[in-house]
Amino acid sequence: MILRRMINNLRSQNWVGLSLELIVLVVGVFLGLQVDDWNEGRKDREDEQLFIERLHGDMLNAEALSARLRDRRMIRRDYAVQAADVLFGRTERRELSELECTAAIATEYFNFNAVGLPALAELISSGRMAILQDNELRAALVGLQQVRTALATLIVVNSERGTSLSSKFVDLVQLEAYTSQDDGDVQQIMTCDTEGMRNNQSFLNNFSTNLDRYDGYIRDGVAPWSAQMDKVHRLIDQALGISHNAEASP
Ligand SMILES: [Zn+2]
Repeated sequence: MILRRMINNLRSQNWVGLSLELIVLVVGVFLGLQVDDWNEGRKDREDEQLFIERLHGDMLNAEALSARLRDRRMIRRDYAVQAADVLFGRTERRELSELECTAAIATEYFNFNAVGLPALAELISSGRMAILQDNELRAALVGLQQVRTALATLIVVNSERGTSLSSKFVDLVQLEAYTSQDDGDVQQIMTCDTEGMRNNQSFLNNFSTNLDRYDGYIRDGVAPWSAQMDKVHRLIDQALGISHNAEASP
């Protein structure tokens, strides 16, 4: 219709009419594009809100699944360092405590399930990270992916190279499995021959190497991942206006 009118105006050399038709055409196209943009923007905002809500659910799930093992791994690093002080005569004490014995032997355990966030994986694979308007949250989520990959690599490398002290030095350490009364989890009671360990250079060498690896696994793997998870959770709470302290209070 508009094209026919423009041709008629052109034939009759009605330049004013032709100009008006051109203006109508350009404005029409411009408005059409604006409406498309507006619709797309509104859809992105809706998707962004849904994504952040799903992410919060994923975060709570991941924390529930990994919190116990994460705390255990990090606390054991400190006890294993204390065990080294006892074994190498840097303290007054001559005997390892039960916790130090367990931590020293547990330097061979690197397994840890750094639970992922399915909503984040979906957003990345669909190439829609840009719908997140909060730059800090977007950067924190990218950082989380990076530290999770670094942790997974450390677990694989250390699991392959670490020495099983409980298998290699059976005269120096005895394991006894039991079921925890608290959570039904199967755990180990470990009994250490502290003096025997102190006098066995092969054990001391292997324990020192294990502790060095374990320290790196905590410092460069578990701790950064844990800190980044906390940061992402704080930013999600901010975006959703959630306060867990308020929920916990009566
Ligand atoms: Zn929260």
